[in-house]
Order: sequence, then C-alpha cells, then structure tokens
Amino acid sequence: MSRVLVIGCGGVANVAIRKCCMLPEVFTELCIASRTKSKCDALAAELKDKTSTKITTARVNADSVEELCTLINSYKPDLVMNIALPYQDLSIMEACLQCGVNYMDTANYEPEDTDDPEWRKVYEKRCAEKGFSALFDYSYQWAYRERFEKAGLTALLGCGFDPGVTQAYCAYAKKHEFDEIDTIDILDCNGGDHGYAFATNFNPEVNLREVSAPGSYWENGHWVEIPAMSIKREYKFDQVGDKDMYLLHHEEIESLAENIPEVKRIRFFMTFGQSYLTHMKCLENVGMLSTTPINFEGHEIVPIKFLKALLPDPASLGPRTHGKTNIGCIFTGRKDGQEKKYYIYNVCDHQECYKEVASQAISYTTGVPAMCGALMMLTGKWIQPGVHTVEEFDPDPFLDALDRYGLPRSESHDPVLVP
Ligand code: NDP
Repeated sequence: MSRVLVIGCGGVANVAIRKCCMLPEVFTELCIASRTKSKCDALAAELKDKTSTKITTARVNADSVEELCTLINSYKPDLVMNIALPYQDLSIMEACLQCGVNYMDTANYEPEDTDDPEWRKVYEKRCAEKGFSALFDYSYQWAYRERFEKAGLTALLGCGFDPGVTQAYCAYAKKHEFDEIDTIDILDCNGGDHGYAFATNFNPEVNLREVSAPGSYWENGHWVEIPAMSIKREYKFDQVGDKDMYLLHHEEIESLAENIPEVKRIRFFMTFGQSYLTHMKCLENVGMLSTTPINFEGHEIVPIKFLKALLPDPASLGPRTHGKTNIGCIFTGRKDGQEKKYYIYNVCDHQECYKEVASQAISYTTGVPAMCGALMMLTGKWIQPGVHTVEEFDPDPFLDALDRYGLPRSESHDPVLVP
C-alpha cells in the first residue's frame, strides 16, 4: 500500500507508470505530474480501466522548489520518482528534503544552462581536479548526502538501465562471482532500426550532449579522457550480431570507481550506426548541438532545442522500431585464487516492448528498472538514509524483480573480452 508521485510524463515515465500499474498491490495510488498536464491526463485516461491503481494528475514546473513543495505537501506521497530531465534533479531533491519524502531518479544532474558563469566556475574546477569534462557528474547530488542522512531519508540515484541495472550487475558480480574484480566493461548495444536516417531513442538534447562529449575511462585510480568517438571496437552481441561500438564517458563509472575501489579499469561502450554518427558530426559542425542561445530574426533560440523540435519524438519510435537491445557488463578478476571472466546482460526486443507498453526498448529498459527501484524502496529493501547509487544496495531482490517484470538476465562464464 503506497502513494507515489511521478514527475515527468515522457517516454521513460510512460513505461514506468504502466509497469507500476501492473502491481496495484504495491503502487496503490499514483499522481502523474508534469509540465504539460494534458500528457498526464491522456495516460491516466488510457490506464483508468486497466488497473486498480488510483491515478490522479497535476501540473508542476519541477524547476520550482516552491511549486514542488505545494504539490508534495498536498499529495503526501511515500516516494517521489523523478522521471523528468536531469536538469530538475536538484530542485526535486531539495523539495523532497523540505517535505520529508524519499527520492529516486534515472540520470544524474546536469545544468540546463551551461553558460551560467557561477556553474562554469565550479565545472572548470572539477574538470581540472578530476580530469574529465562531461557536463554531468555526481558531485552536485552527493553534496546532499549529509542532509538526507540527517533527515532519515533515502535518495536513490540513477535507477534506469545504464546507469542503474549495470551497477546492480556489478554488485551482483562482486557478491557472487568474484573476490576481486580487475576490470569492468559496460556494453550498451542497440540493434534496433526505426527506419529514420536520424533520430534519438531518448530525449534528443540529453542524448546528443552525452554522445558528442569527449569519452573517458577509469584506469589505475584516475580518469583518461579521449576525443569523442576516438576509441572504436567491434563486438558480436548475443541475439544482435556484430556491431561497432565506441568508448563514451558515462556516469556510473564515477560511482563504481568509488564503491568498488579495487577495480583497475572501467570502460563504457555504446553502439552507433554510421548514419547516426555522420548526421551527428554534421549537426555539430554547423552549430546545431550548441546550448548557447542565438538571436534569429528577432527571436532568441537555443540551437539544440530547435533541433529537438525538428527530430522525431522518441515516444513515437515504438511502432517503427524493430530489433533488439543487448546491455550488460563483462568482468575479469579472481575467485578463490583463480582468474575468471564473467558476462551478465539483458536482451530486450523492441517490438515485444511495444506490444506490452506501447514503447520502444530504450524507454522500456529504463522505465522497468525505475519501477523495480521504486518497488525496492517501497517494500523497505532499499531504504538507507543518505544519497546512494544502485551498486550500494543488495542486487539480489532487484535482479529477481527485473527477471520477473520484463528484463531477465543472461550470463556467460566464458565471454569474448573487449580488446
Ligand atoms: P522525455 O523528454 O521523453 O520526458 C521528459 C519529461 O519531463 C516530459 O514529460 C517533460 O514534460 C517533463 N519535464 C521536463 N521539464 C520539466 C519541468 N521543468 N517540470 C515538469 N516536467 C518537466 O525524456 P525521457 O523520458 O526520454 O527521459 C527521462 C529521464 O530518463 C531523463 O532524465 C533521461 O536522461 C533518463 N534516461 C535514463 C536512462 C538510463 O538508462 N538510466 C536511459 C534513458 C533516459 P513535457 O512533456 O512538457 O516536455
């Protein structure tokens, strides 16, 4: 019996909400609140006769702590699921603290306005100190650790697939497969085809910012940064086949390096087709990925926001996307003095997701872990005052829930390693 406030009603939230409504005995009441209330109303109307979860809707500007507090204080949820954008993480965490509610999200904070001089000062200091230049990092949310701990509240960060399930895979490997882990390679393969020359599978702004940034990996206690897309590998993925993949910076590397300190190297690879990369390079070269506003015929526009308006809505890709995703982690290390390797991954089919929840697999593989993370918190399994990432909790009940609710794991004890 619980009451949950979901903030955001985009691609990922749509899946998470539909999955929550399949477990009405836990998710007894849901309030869907977002910037555009009509989207929340449309989803609530669609689900009304399909679930006994009691759904209400609200409009909220999640950039405003005041508006959030008014909503939280009137709805009185047990948990706030932040499935809006990373830009809203801090305002929603702040509101949860002020109102005394547990918090979770699916991606770590980054600022919407990267030209803000105050933010740039902090960012440039971090780039120099830590050695990676991604716009996002955990420091902003880890700064809330003490306040959440003192308030007796739990904040669960980054509970999608990657970040999220990938860290649960690491915790599982550490708990069951290894005494010591030497290397972790996180492999994110999307073998799906939506038929467009260029489209992004989740929020275009967040996606293109991430992919066009320099890559980096963790090695022997420090970051190694490389030009964007400059390390390429080929890999044969189970049920997908041969794909080109590229080394990217990714947020979970940062928390894994802290929480599994013996690891010597952590890398993250994502597959991209040539058409996607050619379009992205061209858009970048002409300035369309810029977040700096320009004046166009008397109007101020932000190029990447304008591009977002032109690109297909990721939520519309569901019916057209065919193929599978394969996301997981390959480990090397030792158990009982023996060298060993281990691969744990999930394969998810775009069309099967669409049949179940009217969405493609990218939103599905993020929305299902968000629901399962909420389930862990609401059933008390993942409650620990403070601000935590997924690998800090017991992976077993979470992976069991994923097996059961749509993202079953596969394993190999003799995987091909990535050179
Ligand atoms: P969408 O753009 O589809 O949805 C975002 C939602 O947030 C929209 O409903 C939007 O409202 C709402 N929103 C945006 N700004 C505000 C605001 N100020 N106040 C209230 N609501 C707001 O994004 P996705 O569903 O694709 O992604 C959701 C989150 O999941 C993102 O943080 C993304 O980074 C993360 N993600 C995580 C992954 C993982 O594996 N961990 C993978 C993929 C995504 P409106 O409809 O008005 O625009």
